[in-house]
Amino acid sequence: MLKKGTKMYSILTGNCPRCQEESMYEKSNPYTLSKIFSMNERCSHCGLKYKIEPSFFYGAMYVSYGVGIAFAVAAFVISFLLIGTSLMTTFISIVGTMIVFMPVIIRLSRNIWINFFVKYDPTAVKKNKAIKG
Ligand SMILES: [Zn+2]
Repeated sequence: MLKKGTKMYSILTGNCPRCQEESMYEKSNPYTLSKIFSMNERCSHCGLKYKIEPSFFYGAMYVSYGVGIAFAVAAFVISFLLIGTSLMTTFISIVGTMIVFMPVIIRLSRNIWINFFVKYDPTAVKKNKAIKG
């Protein structure tokens, strides 16, 4: 399922959406909290500029709403429906889930957002080398 060349691969790994050869982030682990928003400017393999336009990643906030809901629903299903805890415990587990997974939600949202705009191109690295000479 998680094959190179699919959008899912780029979204889950945080790799460059065009060539998928390297991480877009300075630190690929989202729990390096001081570097959570630090992205490389360009992909060193295909030359893609990640910040397509100024404030490009503000749009990821819309995506993070949806991703956050997905995590909250998952927490609800696991806590309330599968384990069968009380509503109060379920509520606490949802809030806890949102806090613990916040770095993951932020990164996933950015990855999904940029993948709306950039397609995978297996020839991107070759093209970039041809331009550079
Ligand atoms: Zn690339």
